[in-house]
Amino acid sequence: MSVTLGEGRTPLLRAPRLSERFGVELWLKFEGANPTGSFKDRGMAVAVTRAVERGAPGVVCASTGNTAASASAYAARAGIEAAIVVPEGAVAGPKLAQVRAVGARIVGVPGTFSDAYAASLELAEREGYVSVNSTNDDRIEGQKSAAHEIVEELGGLPDAFLLPYGGGGNTKAYARGFQEAAGALPRFHPTQAERRADTFASAIRIVEPIHAAEVEDAVARSGGAVVTVTEDELRDAWQAIGREEGLFCEPASAAGVAALARGAASTGERVVCVLTGHGLKDPERVAA
Ligand SMILES: *Cc1c(COP(=O)(O)O)cnc(C)c1O
Repeated sequence: MSVTLGEGRTPLLRAPRLSERFGVELWLKFEGANPTGSFKDRGMAVAVTRAVERGAPGVVCASTGNTAASASAYAARAGIEAAIVVPEGAVAGPKLAQVRAVGARIVGVPGTFSDAYAASLELAEREGYVSVNSTNDDRIEGQKSAAHEIVEELGGLPDAFLLPYGGGGNTKAYARGFQEAAGALPRFHPTQAERRADTFASAIRIVEPIHAAEVEDAVARSGGAVVTVTEDELRDAWQAIGREEGLFCEPASAAGVAALARGAASTGERVVCVLTGHGLKDPERVAA
């Protein structure tokens, strides 16, 4: 039986004012509309379903944010345990509130994200839990559904495809999905923060992207490029998405639009940017 909270089928919205500004036909895939407010729900539905099928008593992840919120909710929905391993003091408030609200166990570990990840694997081993970090391929399988939706709605591939690049799992999933749905890839522009270690876009604050090889492969096969943007570029794009199109997304989600402002697409191209998470995940970023 599949574990679901109604994830997926998110809006793909025309962005008329930003289209005009950049001289392209821009579409925004609003993944903040998923049940826990980010695209992570697509993969988590599949990963938790498979964990239940295998008879696992619970799932575990190391996460400072959206993965934790999603894993906790899907585990609660499935009636199994969830343990969330976090570097002490590193989780943004609303995401931690989501974890607590559905009764997941929070395990604080001193040190960095890597220390938390190592501890989560030990916990998985010890308690027979399934690890649901992005190295779990069931998550990639679930996330690729977004590419199928885009191809279906547009009636084909866009020319260019832009999304934030944190660990690269989402880029990998879209590459797999587009290949399946259309037999080819749009031009990929995964967009990373210049300041990976301390960017204000906390969801892409990842120093060493674990899926870097697959991201490079998708970029090379599609004739695209990884784009690197500054903090100011991210902030400007994030504000423009809100003020010009009425969409409140997480700062990290604005990376694709920031790449567009840098000229990642040519005049007249059809472009899809993925807005990966909801703005309410990080509300203190909004100036009073
Ligand atoms: C996880 C996440 C990202 C980064 O995705 P990767 O698969 O790690 O590249 C970007 N934005 C949001 C909102 C996220 O939750």
